[in-house]
Amino acid sequence: MKNEKVSIASHQCNQCKSVDVQIAYGKYGYYYKCQSCQGNSKISLRCNQPSCKPRLKKEKEHFYKVCSDCNTKEIFFRNS
Ligand SMILES: [Zn+2]
Ligand SMILES: [Zn+2]
Repeated sequence: MKNEKVSIASHQCNQCKSVDVQIAYGKYGYYYKCQSCQGNSKISLRCNQPSCKPRLKKEKEHFYKVCSDCNTKEIFFRNS
């Protein structure tokens, strides 16, 4: 497995590497649900500071990364 830094958020299945994923909500919060292998993958959110604890916020089919530390709200993903 490669361990490269990605500057943009990548939405990918950790198991089969498919990018055909949707965000679903389960008992541990939001996760990627793979449409190819039906596997679940953790969503990692990055922000400007290591101390940031950004959260995902759902509005209809759009997901926003919300950080109260930097007071930002960015579009993160859209379920199709
Ligand atoms: Zn998969
Ligand atoms: Zn932040």
